[in-house]
Amino acid sequence: MTVRVRIAPSPTGNLHIGTARTAVFNWLYGRHHQGTFILRIEDTDQERSRSDYTENIISGLKWLGLDWDEGPFFQTQRLEHYEAAVQTLLDAGLAYYCYCTPAELDDLRARQKAKGQAPRYDNRHRNLTPEQQSAFDAEGREPVIRFKIEDDRQIQWTDLVRGTVTWKGADLGGDMVISRAAPRGTIGIPLYNLVVVVDDIAMGITDVIRGEDHIGNTPKQILLYEALGAPLPNFGHTPLILNTSGQKLSKRDGVTSISDFQEMGYLAEALTNYMTLLGWSPPEELSEIFNLSAAAAVFSFDRVNKAGAKFDWDKLNWLNSQYLHQMPLPQLLDHLIRVWQGAGYDFDPTGDRPWLESLTALLQPSLVKLTDAIAQGRLFFNEPPSMDGEAISQLNQSGSDEVLTQLLHGRQSEGQLTPETAKSLINHATKAVGVKKGLTMRTLRAALTGAIHGPDLIETWLILHQRRWDIPRLERAISLYSNSN
Ligand code: GLU
Repeated sequence: MTVRVRIAPSPTGNLHIGTARTAVFNWLYGRHHQGTFILRIEDTDQERSRSDYTENIISGLKWLGLDWDEGPFFQTQRLEHYEAAVQTLLDAGLAYYCYCTPAELDDLRARQKAKGQAPRYDNRHRNLTPEQQSAFDAEGREPVIRFKIEDDRQIQWTDLVRGTVTWKGADLGGDMVISRAAPRGTIGIPLYNLVVVVDDIAMGITDVIRGEDHIGNTPKQILLYEALGAPLPNFGHTPLILNTSGQKLSKRDGVTSISDFQEMGYLAEALTNYMTLLGWSPPEELSEIFNLSAAAAVFSFDRVNKAGAKFDWDKLNWLNSQYLHQMPLPQLLDHLIRVWQGAGYDFDPTGDRPWLESLTALLQPSLVKLTDAIAQGRLFFNEPPSMDGEAISQLNQSGSDEVLTQLLHGRQSEGQLTPETAKSLINHATKAVGVKKGLTMRTLRAALTGAIHGPDLIETWLILHQRRWDIPRLERAISLYSNSN
């Protein structure tokens, strides 16, 4: 049988890392089995669903490279299918109208709580007579529709991740609401458990893979499959992503949506690699750095952990830096052009491309995130750099001013700067002033960049020179020095 899997996000927020990771596992499993991956937007909660969230979800999945084969399907366009299923259940006596008001249900819950019992519906309207129903109708009450759940049922399935899972019907909270209140004879907005099952049946889903937070829904859904006379799919519940204190990662932990990660300068390849490792241990033949296709080739649920997976920023940063350091220069530059344009830096992406490429090569080894190139690149685009405390004290070292004067004179007489002339200017200034070469190097760096640490000095000098900024910066450092003395 061809594997058919789906990701079914609700557009009630941006694409969350947890949903994206579930999408990754579905994608890997689907691709491993040459199956079909389906995107379904679960938008029946019309109060909380928003089209900008749908767009964010779709563009996030695309950005991550999680391409789907069918969809997106929208549940709000499929309401007649859910209504037909509810009607089938009503006709078969497996579902019924319940007229309880929210106040009555609150009261029931309060009494259960007072007795130390778990809250559950007591099925009180299961067997209303037609007269009782008409009396409620006459009061103007609008019933919900509930699906019968027998307390003495035992529900069991073999979970792809967790093995045998067993639930008792009595633990499912009583008969379950499957559609919201609406006048009797009509069917209100159908609810999650019902619509998911109707769609998973209609779309021929063979493997329902979703987060562990849905595990309590699965026994209810299994009962609905039975009631609708459909064969059961496999179910797999993937471990949750946890924050550093072991709680489910939530909005309170700051960044949780894929677009946030994108804005922070993470690469899609690094993020999918990292998400795959969140709960899955790759077999030995796969190194820790892999793309989705390589992971799909060896993916199986045997290696998905049951325990929650702690989100580890250091690991993600390390992976992201590995991808950045190995990326071909032209590709990295395309990313950085967007980052630098976003920062408002002034350059011509076409005409300045050779210069931009040298700059990219200079910065590449120290990038952890793409956005690091904003601070690291600033001094190459903007004149002048601000001097940090270390740079100022470096410029105040004895001999620094003479070194800079020597370098400036050398530059003014030299014309073009090449790696060779740069080195010989440094050597010459060092000798002429009678200082250690380290002092010359640190002083030159302080003058050019406003800091005493940074990437390769000769390359930095050459790149600044190509923008004609080295001489003004030497002059400025000299004038700073003379002003402070
Ligand atoms: N709309 C649900 C969610 O976003 C889907 C759960 C499922 O996969 O069944 O969590």
